Formats: sequence, C-alpha cells, structure tokens
Amino acid sequence: MRRPELAVALIPGGADDSEVVHSCFANDIAAADRWIIEPFVTRSWNGYRVVFPAHRRALGVRLLAVAGGDFAVALDRMLPAEARIDSWAVRVSATQVALAEGSLIEAGGVIDARGAGDLSLLGIGWRTGLTRAVRTPGPHGVAAPVIVDAAVDQRDGCHLVTVLPISADRLHIADSRYQIDRIADRGAHAEGLDAYLAANGWSGAATEWESHGATPVPLDGDFDAYWQSGGAGTAKAGVGAGLFHPATGRMLPDAVRLAAWVADSPPLPGPALHDALHAHALRTWEARRPYRQIAALLFRGAADAERYRIIEHFYRQPTGLIERFHAGRSTPIDRLRILAGRTPFGGKAR
Ligand SMILES: Cc1cc2nc3c(=O)[nH]c(=O)nc-3n(C[C@H](O)[C@H](O)[C@H](O)COP(=O)(O)OP(=O)(O)OC[C@H]3O[C@@H](n4cnc5c(N)ncnc54)[C@H](O)[C@@H]3O)c2cc1C
Repeated sequence: MRRPELAVALIPGGADDSEVVHSCFANDIAAADRWIIEPFVTRSWNGYRVVFPAHRRALGVRLLAVAGGDFAVALDRMLPAEARIDSWAVRVSATQVALAEGSLIEAGGVIDARGAGDLSLLGIGWRTGLTRAVRTPGPHGVAAPVIVDAAVDQRDGCHLVTVLPISADRLHIADSRYQIDRIADRGAHAEGLDAYLAANGWSGAATEWESHGATPVPLDGDFDAYWQSGGAGTAKAGVGAGLFHPATGRMLPDAVRLAAWVADSPPLPGPALHDALHAHALRTWEARRPYRQIAALLFRGAADAERYRIIEHFYRQPTGLIERFHAGRSTPIDRLRILAGRTPFGGKAR
C-alpha cells in the first residue's frame, strides 16, 4: 500500500485455514503504524480483566484481536491475484526462491517467514495451548476479555485460561501452560478447558473448532547461531528472526514494526535486506535481555503451583508499568518493581 511501485509476491505454503485469534494491545503498536493492522482487526475491546485466586482487576486498555480466517480474507482483498503464489518454497536465498513445483523466482529481495530455526540453539521454555471456539446455548454475559484467569488448577505448571467474547453467544477460550521441561499434550489442555467451561456454567456450549499449538519462549542462547540455522544470508521475519515478545510470546506488534520498517526503506538488494533485518533482529534480541530474565523467572522462579504468583504480582502494578511491559518499553525501575516481589529463591509475590 505504501510502495505501489514495488511488485510483491507471497508464497504462503499451506492453506491459511486457521481460525485462531491472535491478540495484542493497541498501545503495543506505534500510532503511526496502526494503519497496517487495522484492516485485519476482527474485534476490539476497550478494556480487559485479569483474575487470580487473590486478586482481580479491570484495565481500560484497548485490546485488538485478529482471526486467522479474517486475516487471510483481508490480505486477499489487498493483494493483486497474481501476487499470491500457491506453492511451497524448497530453497530460499537472498534473491531467489525455488518452488516445489520446479520453477525459480528471482527477486530484488526475499524475506523468509517459514517459522522457527533450530530451537536447540536456544534455551527455551514453551507456552503450549489449546484454543476452542464455542457457542453457548444462551448469552454468555462476558462483556470484556479475560486475558489471564489463573484461578484454575495450578498443580501442573503455570496454568492460565484466556476468554475472548466474540459475540453474544460465541467465546474463544484458550487453556495455556508455561512449562520448561515438557510440552502439555492436547488431552491435558482439553481437560483444563472442559473444567473451565463446567465451572462457568457453559458445559452445554457447542465446540465449533479447536486448535492446539506451542510457541517457544527463548530464555537465553546464541542468537547468531539461531539466525544462521534458519538460512544463512537470508532476511527473516517472525519467530525465525526471534521477533516476538520475550515473555508473552505475542508476535503481532513485532510483525507490524517490521512491516512498517520494510515499507519505509529504500528497495534494498537481497544481501543488504538481509544485513538490515539481521541488524534489526539482533538489536531487538539484545535490548530484550532483561525481559528474558523476567521470562526465566516465570519458568524457573518457583515451584509449579506457585509460578502464577509472578504474573499476579505483575498485575498489581500501576497500569502504565503493565502497558510499557507489553509494549517492550519497560524502564529499569519498572523491571525492579516486577522482580521485587519475588526472587528465584523464595519470597512472596505479595
Ligand atoms: C496458544 C498460543 C497462543 C498465542 N497467542 C498469541 C496472541 O494472542 N498474539 C500473538 O501475537 N501471538 C500469539 N501466539 C504466538 C504466535 O502464534 C507465533 O508467534 C506465530 O505463529 C509465529 O509466527 P511465524 O509466522 O513466525 O511462524 P509460523 O506461525 O510457524 O508460520 C510459518 C508459516 O510458514 C509457512 N511455511 C512453512 N514452510 C514453508 C515452505 N517451505 N514454503 C512456504 N511456506 C512455508 C507455514 O505454512 C506457516 O504459515 C500464540 C501462540 C500460541 C501457541
């Protein structure tokens, strides 16, 4: 949209049929860049709630949600039909993509967004989750999203439920766990969701679809080795470039930031595009070291049943601190306050 003189091609691999809803806070995205995400927004709310066993709070911050299907439809409307090349990439370099069907695309520059590189090169914790879209028999009465409900069984790791009210009788409910040494299976998440639905009087809700996934949360490791493992010399975006929030795993704000940067750059030849995106990703990785320390606390900072208290302590802080954390703009004093309630070796979060 910003650079109509450039020809863009998208090679999406598999069909984008995911209905999963990704959310982020409007304030996580610079006002000047919001035009990039607005056409994809499925729903937004002017506030959200958090629920813990000993603390509840409503925050008046705008939350945006983008559903996979809506994203695909909006993108199709924006891109000329010939821009979408329905194939898989088998080889990718700074200026070429070899397609599964045998043809070769030459380009000024290529950005590889095929997902994670070799995660064994990083110290990783996992956020696993099962998301379910349900239709309740009558109005569910949930007015605002609950982005963290930790008043659930905490015996098996840091266990959170998220509820997004999509319409008067439709909810997206996600059961997620932060675990370092194992990945919760679909069955464990399904039990969590069933228990949550029953506890809220929604057992009669009909499931429309379910999606199970895991997102890596890097705690430490060799960024350059990781970058190279996803393809040396090729520009990257997304999880392959390490571009997601180091504690929550959210990637929408980083994706928008990168898109804005690319739209505003001169047309860089492939190798220069690689160097520029590598420098951007490396700068981001280094600046986020303190966040990785906070994330490590979430994974390793207490016994499983107690880890949710680190998030509870965080949500007792002033709204500005919470917003800056989500947007990746925490001050050193913010970080001290987040860490103050609890050390990896004990202490209370309250
Ligand atoms: C439970 C859960 C909840 C989450 N919630 C949020 C949220 O609310 N907000 C948020 O911002 N993030 C959220 N995330 C994180 C987010 O889902 C990931 O960070 C994101 O999916 C990473 O995006 P990516 O494009 O880098 O990689 P991927 O999602 O892995 O996408 C890679 C893409 O590359 C394509 N591909 C692969 N190989 C090829 C090939 N050879 N040729 C062509 N195409 C190929 C695939 O088809 C796929 O479409 C959540 C994650 C989980 C697990």
